[in-house]
Amino acid sequence: MISNLIKKLLPSPTLTLDAQVKDLQAKGIPIINLALGEPDFPTPSHISQAAIIAIQEGFTHYTPTSGILELKKAIQNKFLKENDIYTDPSCIVVGVGSKQLLFHAIMCLVQKNDEVLLPTPTWSTYAEQIKLSQATPVFVPLKPPFMLKASDLEKKITKKTKLILLNSPSNPTGAMITRTELMKIADLAVRKNIYVLSDEIYEHLCFDKKHYSIASFNKKIQELTVTINGFSKSYAMTGWRIGYATGPKEIMTAMTGLQSQTTSNTCSISQKAGIIALTGSQKPRKDMRMAFARRRTYILKSLSKIDTCSLTPPSGAFYFLIDIRKSFTTRIDTSEKWAQQLLEKEHIAVVPGEAFFAPGYIRLSFASSLENLREGTKRIIRFMKSHE
Ligand code: PLP
Repeated sequence: MISNLIKKLLPSPTLTLDAQVKDLQAKGIPIINLALGEPDFPTPSHISQAAIIAIQEGFTHYTPTSGILELKKAIQNKFLKENDIYTDPSCIVVGVGSKQLLFHAIMCLVQKNDEVLLPTPTWSTYAEQIKLSQATPVFVPLKPPFMLKASDLEKKITKKTKLILLNSPSNPTGAMITRTELMKIADLAVRKNIYVLSDEIYEHLCFDKKHYSIASFNKKIQELTVTINGFSKSYAMTGWRIGYATGPKEIMTAMTGLQSQTTSNTCSISQKAGIIALTGSQKPRKDMRMAFARRRTYILKSLSKIDTCSLTPPSGAFYFLIDIRKSFTTRIDTSEKWAQQLLEKEHIAVVPGEAFFAPGYIRLSFASSLENLREGTKRIIRFMKSHE
């Protein structure tokens, strides 16, 4: 019998949808996949080359649990240069993607009877991971343009609040927290003595705002913050399964202990590749960002013409969260049904908003070629018009 805790776990909706799309593709149906949560670019070749060398040199065994020192030093330097966070290799943990590190951070910070503030719309993983820790996710619903304010959080704080989860730029909204609000959130967390888990995985994909790390503001907030980042989105390395975290030593030690009993360490070869990703040429990463920026502009232009959908330009990440409620009919009255019809009739995959606690919306990813986006938006418009 499966345990009650796991029985209650909802499988990742995006990964489930991806499996459905691959199934249809295998049957020869040409699906345009705008549901993807990963860059459609190859991993830059100088990074892959570093991995090939690691294999050839036999760097293929266990590593220290929290990562090899050379990589941790490169991460330390990255935090200093790009995020204004002064940290130390002993306060850095490298793990099997940022998803695993988020889970381990949550497991180390909260337990039964604790509450975790989670602004919505949000990535479903956070809520499920919080439930696995037996703590309670407390949703903080945001309205378009989905920009979190400290006052939204303050209203939901109780004696049980132990952790605030931040994700800026956000999946699925693309919204970013302004520097002023981030500073207010830092003050609030310090005043109430609440931990902050800051998922900054999309930091290199910002289009109209600068990214700030909450842990950089002062020593007090740094002592309450775990900052999570990774290689997946910035360097098109989703399959390499490598991410990293920094935070107070006590928490990082606990996370290392947990990791030593779960994954041991992340792949030795990926760690070698990670060093080159951070210390080698950043041009491929910047080129990817520019390509995403062009695609974002394209979608904005083409979908803004349609009255039945309303969209907020995302400041970061590679998603549009689109309000489609005006195109609902008596038969197609949920995002799930809408997305299913779009897949069946027009062979376009998007993620229904229910997956992000955003019913009435769909998430459209622009991690797909301009050619796909042109055809994709054309078919979405046709689908919407057929409902008018
Ligand atoms: N955080 C957010 C907000 C994400 O959207 C994702 C992936 O979609 C991750 C973390 C996980 O990234 P990783 O591949 O590093 O586990």
